[in-house]
Amino acid sequence: MKYIGAHVSISGGVENAFQNAESIGAKSFAMFTRNQRQWVSKPLTDKNITKFKKNCTKGGYDSKHILPHDSYLINLGHPEKESLKKSRIAFLDEMQRCEQLGLRYLNFHPGSHLNKIDPGYCLERIAESINLVLEQTKGITAVIENTAGQGTNMGFRFEHLARIIENVRDKTRIGVCLDTCHTYSAGYDIKTVKGFENTLQEFDNLVGIKYLKAMHLNDSKKPFGSRVDRHESIGKGSLGIEPFKLIMNDKRFDYIPMVLETPDQSIWKKEIRLLYSLIK
Ligand code: MN
Ligand code: MN
Ligand code: ZN
Repeated sequence: MKYIGAHVSISGGVENAFQNAESIGAKSFAMFTRNQRQWVSKPLTDKNITKFKKNCTKGGYDSKHILPHDSYLINLGHPEKESLKKSRIAFLDEMQRCEQLGLRYLNFHPGSHLNKIDPGYCLERIAESINLVLEQTKGITAVIENTAGQGTNMGFRFEHLARIIENVRDKTRIGVCLDTCHTYSAGYDIKTVKGFENTLQEFDNLVGIKYLKAMHLNDSKKPFGSRVDRHESIGKGSLGIEPFKLIMNDKRFDYIPMVLETPDQSIWKKEIRLLYSLIK
């Protein structure tokens, strides 16, 4: 059973995510729990929380198919003390919002070394940030997203993800989200049957398939190994439709949220239908 959806808007309140998901036929979805481009956001109100939970039940969604995403400003591996602290405080706030909403995941990008610290040391900082926040919260799993490796972003090699997880103390509350665009841009050739299988094997060997908690389904505007993060609509980019056929027919991707972050929202409904039509 596949749970396909998209990253839906929370405009007007977090509780509106459900109707946006339903309107495109999404069985899973991603969302922000606050303005993703600001450091500080208004706390969720009791009204928000109550409506969110009510809409969740009414829509028949399970919290394991909802994948909240954190703010783009947060850098859990920040080389400077003050900025690192700011990021950790914001990340804790994100986690607490998820707790309040009864969610179980928080998807985030690992962090960037900004050419100011050793990449290996940056990975240790990221793990320590995760540890600090997990200790102060309950029930939420931190879901690291692999990146395209643009600029000084860490997390574009499976080795990076493995190293972070190795240093996270509570292994029951850490997971991974693989983004197809990022994977391909980072230099994992998931375009062919063989390349796809090799990539998953490598992921299993280095990280462990049991840590795979979610997927982002995006095609890529940029060529293989470009290390540039530019999403394209499914089947219209350098990845093409083949890898999505493989994913839709692979049991390893059953039951987890698989969400579109493709640029043309007006065709999300069509893209979701297209993906389901690929099941043989
Ligand atoms: Mn992301
Ligand atoms: Mn993504
Ligand atoms: Zn991306």
